[in-house]
Amino acid sequence: MLNVLAISGSDSSGGAGMQCDIKTITKHGHNALSVATSITAQNSTGLLHMEHASPSSVAIQLQSIFSELKVHAVKTGMIPTRKSITNVCNALTSYEVDAPYVLDPVLATTSGSGLVEPGSLKSMIDRLFPLATLVTPNVAEAQNILGRKIATLEESIDAARSILQYGSKFVLVKGGHLTDFPGNDVLVGRYDSTNAEIIECGEYFPHRDVHGTGCALASAIACGLARGREVRDAVIRAKRYVTKAIATAQELAPGFWSLNHQSSHTD
Ligand code: PLP
Repeated sequence: MLNVLAISGSDSSGGAGMQCDIKTITKHGHNALSVATSITAQNSTGLLHMEHASPSSVAIQLQSIFSELKVHAVKTGMIPTRKSITNVCNALTSYEVDAPYVLDPVLATTSGSGLVEPGSLKSMIDRLFPLATLVTPNVAEAQNILGRKIATLEESIDAARSILQYGSKFVLVKGGHLTDFPGNDVLVGRYDSTNAEIIECGEYFPHRDVHGTGCALASAIACGLARGREVRDAVIRAKRYVTKAIATAQELAPGFWSLNHQSSHTD
């Protein structure tokens, strides 16, 4: 069995964060390892509370894993403090982790509540982007990374190319909130950044505000990479997985949707 490590925050509603990562990795038939960076309390009314794991707890969780287990892929989501980001960076470099690494630059919940401390995005860009195989911002995250507005597919392609400059091998800008081609994602790679690939959206569900789609996509991509798939192939398969989980999502409370991993499929 392949070990896929998710470094992320706990979401009490079960829809996003660590719970979503573990469901996705398990559904893909891999063994989910996890490092908790924060404990969040969330429900349909929003983000109620957060208590971040101490940076030393994050470091020791990482040490417990890397000191004795082979990790076949890493996924990071919410890492709320600069010190925890530094400790993730130190662990990945000091244990010489060469597994594929998918970085989801989580800043806020789907409903817009901030999940990270000021300054942590800059630290993530400086310390973790250069280690990543793939960075997967949504439009809001890409706007924050670059400090400019992104609305159209063309602007999303430019944004993906600009984010590549921060050192990851690939960038996927997710298009859930584009005005012209919603749901179409843009993939660019460092070795051929002129060739931007549009990962088309099969089905788009504009009125279904589902929690955890970004977490599930990044974890599903990490699962594909753990198996040795190429980035493009892993992204396409992961998008299919998430699209099915959105199509069959459950409305847990009015307007509060959770992905349906049970009905989704992996191929
Ligand atoms: N991580 C945690 C702990 C969260 O609570 C959330 C959203 O609520 C996310 C990550 C990002 O979720 P999404 O996949 O909806 O972008």
